[in-house]
Amino acid sequence: MSLKGNIYKIYTAACSPIRFAGNLIDTPAVILIYHRVAFLENDPQLLAVKPDNFYRQVEWLKNKYNIITLEELGNHLKNGRIPKKSVVITFDDGYADNYLEALPVLEALSADATFFITTNSIGSEREFWWDDLERVFLNDVILPPSLLLEISGKTYQFDTSTPASKLKTYNKLHPILKFRKSVDRDDLIRIILDWSGLSYKSRQTHRPMTIKELSKLSKSEYTTIGAHTQSHTPLSILSKDEQQHEIIKSKMQLEEWTNTQIKHFSYPFGSIKDYDKNSVAICEEEGFCTACSNFYSQVHSWSNRYELPRCLIRDWNFEFFKNQINKFFRY
Ligand SMILES: [Zn+2]
Repeated sequence: MSLKGNIYKIYTAACSPIRFAGNLIDTPAVILIYHRVAFLENDPQLLAVKPDNFYRQVEWLKNKYNIITLEELGNHLKNGRIPKKSVVITFDDGYADNYLEALPVLEALSADATFFITTNSIGSEREFWWDDLERVFLNDVILPPSLLLEISGKTYQFDTSTPASKLKTYNKLHPILKFRKSVDRDDLIRIILDWSGLSYKSRQTHRPMTIKELSKLSKSEYTTIGAHTQSHTPLSILSKDEQQHEIIKSKMQLEEWTNTQIKHFSYPFGSIKDYDKNSVAICEEEGFCTACSNFYSQVHSWSNRYELPRCLIRDWNFEFFKNQINKFFRY
């Protein structure tokens, strides 16, 4: 990714007038990212949309916009024209509630969505590492007053004696774990769980899908399955070979589980510091139809199919949600 490209992306994300001016000359599309459809008491990363809210959002999108598949959008981009009012729904990661809560809504409303799956988590009965951190530090678990961790040969001491210090520790550990290779990260999570006395097994409310659930999800006429790497590591910290392994192995594993060709990919975390030019090149070389990022903008006919911007959807109140979507189409 060139520096110029990055500056353009940051600029267009930040400056609405530039984005809206684009709408005057070219009809935009918007790709939404969801992660979870669930009611959670604790949601520090704001990943969950409540089921009734999700229903209302999709019902409104269905009435007001044209919900198209990612495949359709990819083909429109190849042809250089996007149909008016196009919206694409995507989900990242592979939580069980995608199958249990989101799928029935999509089927009831005849709405299409693409689900990007982190393959190592499927059927693992382990939580995603960010949920393990939340479970340990942001719940009422009685913990020892401090945690010693050796990270890259250095010993760190974290205060865990009060709710405020536990929150501080959570906020410090999150970026440390995010930018580590999966083997090191998994070791650290095991050490933290052993220290806390909690089990490795996932809570029912936070588990990823089983292989059977994923296979059932893939069989719906309203779903497309896409790859999201094996271990959900930011690709930017990996060598090209390691990235290739993460991308190709997750694609192959999903093809085996779902018996379909996997044509779409989304970069874990997906901001411009979480992947690099190698990641984009691999997706193109491997023949994916699209690859989705996670920076805020709308899609235009000139957008790169291998770095499609997406808009993160939170559990907003309905009026705010409508306004967030409508403003993408203004000019
Ligand atoms: Zn993800």
